[in-house]
This record gives sequence, structure tokens and C-alpha cells, in this order.
Amino acid sequence: MIYLDGAATTPVRREVLEAMWPYLTGEFGNPSSHNALGFSAATALTEARRAVAGFLGCRPAEVIFTSGGTEADNLAVKGIALGNPRGRHLVISAIEHEAVRESADYLARLHGFEVTVLPVDSVGLVSPATLKAALRPDTTLVSIMFANNEIGTVQPIAELAGVARAAGVPFHTDAVQAAGWLRSSVGDLGVDALSISGHKLGAPKGVGALFVRGRIPIEPLVHGGGQERGIRSGTENVAGAVGLATAVGLVDLPQSESVAGLRDALIARVLDTVPDAVLTGHPSLRLPGHASFCFPGTSGESVLLELEQRGIVSSSGSACAAGSDEPSRVLLALGISPEIAQTAVRFTFGAEVTEGDVSETFGAVREAVAAVRGLASR
Ligand code: PLP
Repeated sequence: MIYLDGAATTPVRREVLEAMWPYLTGEFGNPSSHNALGFSAATALTEARRAVAGFLGCRPAEVIFTSGGTEADNLAVKGIALGNPRGRHLVISAIEHEAVRESADYLARLHGFEVTVLPVDSVGLVSPATLKAALRPDTTLVSIMFANNEIGTVQPIAELAGVARAAGVPFHTDAVQAAGWLRSSVGDLGVDALSISGHKLGAPKGVGALFVRGRIPIEPLVHGGGQERGIRSGTENVAGAVGLATAVGLVDLPQSESVAGLRDALIARVLDTVPDAVLTGHPSLRLPGHASFCFPGTSGESVLLELEQRGIVSSSGSACAAGSDEPSRVLLALGISPEIAQTAVRFTFGAEVTEGDVSETFGAVREAVAAVRGLASR
């Protein structure tokens, strides 16, 4: 099997599991307990927070551990929008993950917010000028993702955040897909909040973190015992936090270049062998291990099945929206027709993938597309 669905999830790395193990077994204390086991757990949590803060270039107190990317996004969007007395206007992009979009929708439905959804161009980029024009005196938050899960496009976050900062508006970015691949220093990016998720970078599912700049007021969403500085109550997932901290410590940004080389080889060879295939997203400003296409005259789901029979595990789009028969909103936002959007297939991978895997993949793509088209023309 060649696993090319790393944007959906990744396996837990051995080093991560080994670092977590003690906190799932012998050192199982509750960090709030005033006993030796509790102190040991609290120390592990403090160290994990320090490591994640080091990775993001922020202060440890600015890291809030969450149950994953979805919760981090919810906390950022709802928590900052509700905590900001400026007003009830919110700006997001047309290609945000559901966690951001549905949070904005919730604020509109239940809290009277007005949401401006910024368009993207045909390769998925948000224009800083469009953002600037959308900002108002009552704008409470801008949320634009760092890199998109379906099309891989990487936004000019530093520039976009600069536009928001000039207007005094907090800026959140969903870096769930980007964090393992692109430098995610919150200082360089100039963002006020940033979400990451463990299972996209070799930690388990169910742990993530939100960075929120110290001076930004944030309204808690989960109330209870006051953990995480009162912003996210609930007994901390100590092992998960240790796993996340270990995983970010293993992020190897220089690897991105060789992975991008394989991505470009895969893109070139697929476009060569399936001449009417359409690359979705930006040709170069995209995640290193992300190649996404539409194959007109097929259905993405059928190509996926044919690929799986040939040992290639890929995805027909976003795993989070899986099970939905609707064409992808992200692809529609690029101006792709609903018929073509139904033919999307995404290949996402990391440094474990070899040149041989890429050759096998493009060969399998050619066969799979031909097989689906053959069936369709019968
Ligand atoms: N944001 C993006 C861009 C994602 O790709 C995902 C997951 O696919 C999430 C948020 C949600 O993260 P989690 O699965 O940790 O809830």
C-alpha cells in the first residue's frame, strides 16, 4: 500500500508514542492533584507547553491545549469574536475549513454577527486588497487559513495579517495543514491566533493547540474547573500534550524541499499522461506534499476505488467533508463547475514517500482514470 492521504491523518510516530507512554501508564496523575503523581503530570504539561511555544515562537502562557484543530478553530473564531467589544462583524475566506465556516455561521445565527466571506481567485488565493476593503470599524476578527486541505494553496499570511493589524483587527489563521511543512512562527506571520492539530503531524487524533496572543481577549467556550488559564476547562490530556510537543519537535522543515520535488514530479507526470486533467490550487504556492486534480469524465469516488485496487490510498477531497455528496465548496469557490468538482482526487504525502512510489502512483492514475472512463462510455 502507498499511503497518499496524509492531509487526512498521519500515523503516530514511534518517538511520539514512546514519549506519551509513561503518562498513559505509571505517571497517570491529574495535573491539578496535589500529590507526587499530580506534580509529575503538571511538570510534563508545563514542558509540553514550553515546547509547543518554542515551535510557534510565542510565550508558553499563550498556548492553549485543545482536543484538536476543530476545537482550536472554534475557540479562536467564537472566543475572540465574542470577547472583542468592537462589534459584530467577522471576515473569513470562501475556502475555510468547516470548523471555521460553521463557527462563523453559528455566530451569525445565534449572536447576530454579519459575516463577510472573501472570494478567492482561480488558484485559491485571497487578495490583501480585497481583505482591506472588507474591514469595518465593527470587525472583530479575520480568519484566513494558512494552507488549504483540499487544494494545498498557501496564503500570503504575513501580508494578510498585516492588513488586519493596520486596522486594529485580530487575525486568526488555521495552520492545521501548514504547521508540519511551513515555518509557523507567529511573530514572523504577525498573527494573533493560530490553530494546530496533532494528528496531521505524527501525534494522535484528539489533541491540538491554539495560540492566542496575550493581549487578545477571548471568551471561553468550555466552562468548568478553570484549566488552561480558565480558557478551556477540563482535565488536561497530558499524554496528548506530550505527544503534540514531541511531534512538533520532530518537524523537519528542510525536508519540505525534497517532498516538494516529488510533488512537482507527480504533478508533471499526471498532467502529461492524462492531458485533460486539471491541477486544482496554486501550481507552486502549495503545500510540499500536496497534489490535487480533477479528472473530467470520471467521478472522484470511482477513481479512488480504482486506485485503491492498485494499492494507492488517496482521497476524493477533504476527509472532514467525506460522506457528503455535495460538490466541494472549495472547488466551486475557484470557479470550477459542479460537474468537474465531482471528479476531484487528492494525493498528500510526507517524507516517507519515495520516487518509486511516485512512479507507481502516476502509472496507477493513468490506469484508474482510463478504467473509469471506459466504464462510463459503455
Ligand atoms: N482545519 C483544517 C485545515 C483541517 O484540514 C482539519 C482536518 O482535516 C481541521 C481543521 C480539523 O482538525 P481536527 O481533525 O484535529 O479536528
